[in-house]
Amino acid sequence: MHVSAECYPIAKVGGLADVVGALPKYQNEIGAKSSVVMPFYNNKFTQANKFTSIYQSKVRLGNEELKFDILKVKGSVLEFDIFFIHIENLLYTTEVYTENDTNRFLAFQIAALDWMLTLTEKPKVIHCHDHHTGLIPFMAQESYKYETLNKIPVITTIHNGQYQGWMPYDNIYKIPMFNIEKVGLLLWNGMVNSLAAAIKCAWRITTVSPSYMEELKYNANGLEALLASESAKAIGILNGIDSKVWNPETDTYIVKNYKKTTVESGKKANKKWLCSQFNLDESKPLFAFIGRLVGEKGADLLPYAIDYALRDKEISVLVLGSGFKQTESQLLDLIPRHNGNYNAYIGYDEKLSHIIYAGADFLLMPSRVEPCGLNQMYSLRYGTVPVVRRIGGLKDTVIDIGDNGFGICHNEVSVNDIVVSIHRGKEFYDNKKKFKTNRKRMMSIDHSWKVSAKAYINLYKSIK
Ligand code: ADP
Repeated sequence: MHVSAECYPIAKVGGLADVVGALPKYQNEIGAKSSVVMPFYNNKFTQANKFTSIYQSKVRLGNEELKFDILKVKGSVLEFDIFFIHIENLLYTTEVYTENDTNRFLAFQIAALDWMLTLTEKPKVIHCHDHHTGLIPFMAQESYKYETLNKIPVITTIHNGQYQGWMPYDNIYKIPMFNIEKVGLLLWNGMVNSLAAAIKCAWRITTVSPSYMEELKYNANGLEALLASESAKAIGILNGIDSKVWNPETDTYIVKNYKKTTVESGKKANKKWLCSQFNLDESKPLFAFIGRLVGEKGADLLPYAIDYALRDKEISVLVLGSGFKQTESQLLDLIPRHNGNYNAYIGYDEKLSHIIYAGADFLLMPSRVEPCGLNQMYSLRYGTVPVVRRIGGLKDTVIDIGDNGFGICHNEVSVNDIVVSIHRGKEFYDNKKKFKTNRKRMMSIDHSWKVSAKAYINLYKSIK
């Protein structure tokens, strides 16, 4: 049973939703019986569907008692069982995250365990995601009322270690009664720290890529030493991609569908469309960037790197993204300067992103932090060469052409490294035969959830 604040397509803020929306589906396909429990929000999905209440009770949060329902969606809307915790004046918000998240997610976690206590068929594994569910491993193990749950293995997956669910010490009285000698398990630097508590108490810790696990030991917003000391129970499992949605053969967004044997003509048609829309020359190698224009993605350096790289008039660059206003305007300012070689679309456009994955020759990802990253895996599936900084999931999924690989990698987040990588890409593009063979090779790489879903099942089974 997965416990999460987000799940695609019900409520999505980031990659967490994609994982929790796909992993159970693929786990079920390989014979597991996987379900999700999440908060009931006031959003498009909950308004568009009908629900039945299968359990009602009250959850105690300090001095308050709050009525809660376990809801199930009517009809077979999703490919796995999903249970919603409905707490009218607390969890039922239009946004997933609000100012009152300490109380909201505490009540959510307590209600989830209260309900699990009543199940005749208890979960075989409780799989928690990120800090919003970080107190479950502690409560399941230490709170007196959950004693009958304490033999169930609890796993925590860290999708982003920067956010930890800190709360002032005096919130501990809201946690169901436990032996106060164990309070240290909840604390980190004098505060209750949900993620730290999960790292200490979960039976296993996972991250969304193996390299991110290693990097957290050196850069985890204060939890480095803890992660290093708990590393014996930690493992990185790479996220998958939903290969049914991201498939150039069936993708309804793109201009022309293609598979390995038709990749050249397929990509050509998509590139032609992009170049005509964005005033670019289709005979030149096209380097694209898709993503949030934020420091984590190295986007602040992009305008400088593009301006510099475009001193070579034989390449084109196209950017799709939104984020920091400064970066957005710098990227727009470059358009007249490099008219015919460069363009940018500031905003979010799902369709355009698919056509770019299909039509570009290269995808730039100069990330500072990348717990897993999806873009590079989409890009491989569409036969587009990823140009990435060696970090987190990028390091785990892209091998440089100089090491018999298929992508282009650089070590630093610097204008110089990005520009050198673009030039290496241009040279690679000019070697037509190798470049074409490489497209087919990239498209053969399997990053589907099948592989990762199995890895999680194996992890569950390995717990004694
Ligand atoms: P993160 O979750 O850190 O933003 P990921 O690589 O895990 O990064 O996922 C990013 C997802 O969002 C990808 O599916 C990417 O195609 C999509 N995306 C990001 N920015 C845009 C945009 N401006 N328009 C369309 N899709 C976008």
